[in-house]
Amino acid sequence: MSERDATADRQPDPMVDSVRAHADGFMADTITLRRALHQWPELGNDLPITRDTVATALADLPLTITLHESTSGIAALLEGSAPGPTMLLRGDMDALEMPEDTGLEFSSHVDNAMHACGHDTHTAMLVGAARLLSERRGEIAGRVLFMFQPGEEGHHGARFMLDEGLLDVGPMADGSESPVDAAFALHITSALPAGWVGTRGGPVMASADAVRIRITGKGGHASEPFRAVDPIPVACEIVTALQSMITRSIDVFDPGVVTVGRITAGTTNNVIPETADIEGTIRAVSERTRAQIHDGIRRVAENIASAHGCDGDVEIVYGYPVTTNDDRFADWTLDLAGDVAGTDHVVRLPHPVMGAEDFSYVLQELPGAMSFLGGTPLDRNLATAAPNHSNRVYFDESAMATGISLYAAAALRHLAPT
Ligand SMILES: [Zn+2]
Ligand SMILES: [Zn+2]
Repeated sequence: MSERDATADRQPDPMVDSVRAHADGFMADTITLRRALHQWPELGNDLPITRDTVATALADLPLTITLHESTSGIAALLEGSAPGPTMLLRGDMDALEMPEDTGLEFSSHVDNAMHACGHDTHTAMLVGAARLLSERRGEIAGRVLFMFQPGEEGHHGARFMLDEGLLDVGPMADGSESPVDAAFALHITSALPAGWVGTRGGPVMASADAVRIRITGKGGHASEPFRAVDPIPVACEIVTALQSMITRSIDVFDPGVVTVGRITAGTTNNVIPETADIEGTIRAVSERTRAQIHDGIRRVAENIASAHGCDGDVEIVYGYPVTTNDDRFADWTLDLAGDVAGTDHVVRLPHPVMGAEDFSYVLQELPGAMSFLGGTPLDRNLATAAPNHSNRVYFDESAMATGISLYAAAALRHLAPT
């Protein structure tokens, strides 16, 4: 990585300028591909139509393609003209289980499936970057590993691809070692204007775990609670105590969230049920706080249950870890984004986002950064624009020119021949 002084008078980088012009030439194809993906959204780790569409779009490029077996993931490796390390660029491909109500002419043709998180744009931009970089192999010392992953929306697609050997890329054709030494991903967001870029060093997105608590008492007649052990008031007490636990024991500067989203108990008004169930989500922006919250939930739930003569059984289902950007790589990305998008279109995010990402698994293995690419049209109000995951979210396709350029310029700068 080269160090550039963001505060000094910026010298235009001819590479970035030429990449921007080059990317503009791919926009028509990128929009066509994005719309094709948008019309046929698929869910989870098995995305046969999407995989075929991407493989076809890459077919005429000089890439070594590996179709993953445990999922529909595609790893495509581009070899440059000189030895050097390998840089990973990620695009996710899956959609969400929900109806689409955008009214767009290329709306989803699939009942209850929609590309509402913009992964269709990520996939199309990464294909565009693969094409651009394939035409500029002579400027690459090392390799680019394009990671097209399924299952980002809670299905651990990145973890499956890593477990299947994504990073075991072997030596280059000339026999030189070329380990994967950096990783870069983009996520389009309604929270920034189209073409803007934002990221930060350190935690950038939260961990997301699920918790299930079952309180077991003793069923009986609702008129005689003293002959039963009623789990319902115990469940209510646990829900409020969890909020006290968060505010009284978690460092306000290293925050966490526990939200109980579901509470279920009983069948009718005159029966005390045997059990009550609580389900919730746990978010944190450090692994330390994450572990502390897990311990706190167990302590509070088990002991309140016990205090009232019930059993409290806590199950924590691990979701994605905290997505943590490498500090230096994040600075490097902000600097690059300033060159690509203009410094007045780049924001250093003041705090992490409480959503979660399975790119976190990649960043546990490699230094790198997750960045956000603005997708809200410039004439719309950011505060009221339909957000990611909304049935009405709308992304300005012109932002994809910035995205293709960022992916490609990241590789060309990181892998510049010395
Ligand atoms: Zn999403
Ligand atoms: Zn997403």
